[in-house]
Amino acid sequence: MKGKNFINGQWVASGSGEIFESRNPADRDDVIGTFPLSNAQDVDGAVQAAEKAFPAWRAMSRIKRGEVFDNFVQLIKKDHEELSRLMARECGKAINESRADVTEGIHMAQYVFGITRTPAGDVIASEIAEKDAYMRRHPKGVVAAITPWNFPFAIPLWLLGPSLVEGNTVVFKPSEDTPLMGEKVAEYLERAGIPPGVLNLVQGDGEGAGRPLAAHSDVDVVAFTGSFEVGSEIRKICAEAPHKMAVCEMGGKNAVIVFEDADVSIALNAALLSAYKTTGQRCVSSGKLIVHETLYPKFCEEFVKLSRRVNIGDPLDEKTFMGPLINAAGRKKMEYYNDLARKEGGRILLEGGTLKGRGCDKGWFVSPFVYQMDYNPQSRVLREEVFAPNVAIVPFRTIEDAIRIYNDTDYGLALAVITEDYRKARRVREECEYGLGYVNLPSIGAEVHLPFGGVKKSGTGMPSAATLIDAVTHRTAWTVNNAKEIKMAQGLKATLD
Ligand code: NAD
Repeated sequence: MKGKNFINGQWVASGSGEIFESRNPADRDDVIGTFPLSNAQDVDGAVQAAEKAFPAWRAMSRIKRGEVFDNFVQLIKKDHEELSRLMARECGKAINESRADVTEGIHMAQYVFGITRTPAGDVIASEIAEKDAYMRRHPKGVVAAITPWNFPFAIPLWLLGPSLVEGNTVVFKPSEDTPLMGEKVAEYLERAGIPPGVLNLVQGDGEGAGRPLAAHSDVDVVAFTGSFEVGSEIRKICAEAPHKMAVCEMGGKNAVIVFEDADVSIALNAALLSAYKTTGQRCVSSGKLIVHETLYPKFCEEFVKLSRRVNIGDPLDEKTFMGPLINAAGRKKMEYYNDLARKEGGRILLEGGTLKGRGCDKGWFVSPFVYQMDYNPQSRVLREEVFAPNVAIVPFRTIEDAIRIYNDTDYGLALAVITEDYRKARRVREECEYGLGYVNLPSIGAEVHLPFGGVKKSGTGMPSAATLIDAVTHRTAWTVNNAKEIKMAQGLKATLD
């Protein structure tokens, strides 16, 4: 298939005619399609279309805007399986996970449709009895939505849903690794009745399309989800434009903390899901299992046994637990961190990494790499995001140690604590740095109505999904005097004498 950009309600090629390919990461011979390799001119056309469409979209009833998402949900539900299969083929996510990704996108669309009939502001008390005061939300204008490949349906919906329903117009640049899923989001919103120019799609890479979009002077908010490296660049670009806000959700170095009183079967299962779902390529994946010393030897042994049983293969096969990594760079990064674990003194329990043979040669397949590592504040592998199934098991003695080992990273995204002792869980809740905390669960798993975002290098403190509404709207105060004279707050005189 030949994909297009979607600008001002028209499906168009890039101005330069240049294209790029999307290939199946499980089978590099499988070309999914070609897509426009857009440049700054294409981006400019899309931003101008969004600017032009803004006044009419903003003036429309919030409820009517929401109805586009109700239509969208009906259409997606009909094609749920087809979209899930396309996703598994384009990004290598196991089919069960691809289905969950589409379902999460549906949930986000349902959520934003639902909130349109809930209050869009607050009625606020005033010092003056005759005064009515309100907080009203205003859309900010043009939102640039720049998304990663790993949730190619749900994350665009997290960013587009709140932005559009609140009256902003959007230029959406999906990841160059998942352009087909990006096109599907735009195609279904068009079919759902989004007016021309309200949503624009620009395909391409970070340099050619992402950077000029983030830097465009008519963009008011950049809503970005992706790596810290790119997010920090976007923040710098936005800091130079006084009107522009950057909302960045970035990477993580997450962990599962297993206390001595843990239910060991829950601990092992939570560790397995945290480490290997999406082949370790979730922002909330855990590459660090922090395990109490009394459970440590047995836990290591059992975790390795389970890791050997992980079914790796064709993402479209229902039995597959782990598909391939997304691309060559992802696999190179895993190999780099596997070597670093060796250099930093890791004792290898399971020698994983690049998989050859067994039908794996055509894709970016890897197997789990598991090692024991004593805590060392100098270690980089214990502190940096690998984004692959590279798993350290670290022993600890006291709760203070466990908290220190978890916190010793520049990231602060997700943690899981496995314990039957609510006091231990509470202490972790209070003293660890994170945005998403889970008790007796894996460190993965999102629901759209909860905040999703981290602290430190993981986020800018404005979580996405439901809470993105705070970033894409400006809260205004509107005060109305009902008296026949002016009365001021703070006892301020309102007459000349
Ligand atoms: P990435 O940062 O490489 O790319 C993300 C997007 O940014 C892509 O669309 C890319 O084209 C664009 N981009 C690249 N360079 C750019 C530039 N200079 N200017 C503007 N845009 C640019 O990330 P990825 O590999 O797609 O995704 C993996 C990363 O995303 C991991 O670090 C993961 O932890 C993170 N992530 C975070 C969350 C979260 O909610 N915190 C969710 C999913 C993924």
